[in-house]
Amino acid sequence: MKKTGELYAGKAKTVHTTEDPDLLVLEFRDDTSAFDGERVEQLARKGRVNNQFNGYVMEKLQAAGVATHFVKQLSPNESLVRNLQMIPVECVVRNRAAGSLCRRLGIAEGQELTPPVFEFFLKNDALHDPMINDSHIATFGWASEHEVQQMKDLTLQVNSVLQALFANGGMILVDYKLEFGRFKDKIVLGDEFSPDGCRLWDAQTLEKMDKDRFRQNLGNVIESYENVGQRIGIQFE
Ligand code: ADP
Ligand code: UDP
Repeated sequence: MKKTGELYAGKAKTVHTTEDPDLLVLEFRDDTSAFDGERVEQLARKGRVNNQFNGYVMEKLQAAGVATHFVKQLSPNESLVRNLQMIPVECVVRNRAAGSLCRRLGIAEGQELTPPVFEFFLKNDALHDPMINDSHIATFGWASEHEVQQMKDLTLQVNSVLQALFANGGMILVDYKLEFGRFKDKIVLGDEFSPDGCRLWDAQTLEKMDKDRFRQNLGNVIESYENVGQRIGIQFE
């Protein structure tokens, strides 16, 4: 599928139009950002690793009945996806306490969360992605009540599929962020699932294997992403 123009250059991916208005090319770049884009670095191989990681996970989710935007991988760092009308909220599920939950509520990192916590955040870097709830989404018209319910149901369905996938690789899925969009009036999972947007800990040692390695300057960031991928069965090109 030929790229016909650049639609949007985000912090980590560039979105290209194609000859088919229903399809886009997502190009995964090596740019790595943290703290709402305040810190940006290039990490060699990151684009390739996250593109292949995302394709593998999206196919697993598709097989489990979750509608996703993923069509196929086009090259090591590019994928063909359905063109979604993105909903500007981030859906986060947490199985263990980490990150902003600990900072906000004073909960100790690692505490098991039963049932898992579900949170919405507004996708807005300038405002530092503030936490929002169903009422804000309804009042400001970011999504309908039915869409809110679908996003919650789908995000929790993803949890059961991916907790098992990572547990089989000896890892704990601590938390993750998903983004959804509309495709012909249907709610579809978009964006990416990669170690950039989730937390994964080694089940034995609790070593961090995700983007916290970048945020906390722990080193071996991409080596760790590759290790996670290999443990769940990905053979990187
Ligand atoms: P950010 O916008 O947070 O800087 P990225 O660099 O990952 O993020 O940019 C990718 C952009 O593409 C995001 O804004 C995301 O919402 C959007 N996007 C992801 N998947 C799709 C899709 N299938 N259709 C349309 N837009 C998408
Ligand atoms: N996350 C993300 N993009 C964001 C905000 C969060 O991918 O803009 C992911 C993050 O990697 C983690 C989960 O969502 O896996 C929960 O993040 P948290 O609210 O703890 O924020 P953080 O501590 O990362 O700022």
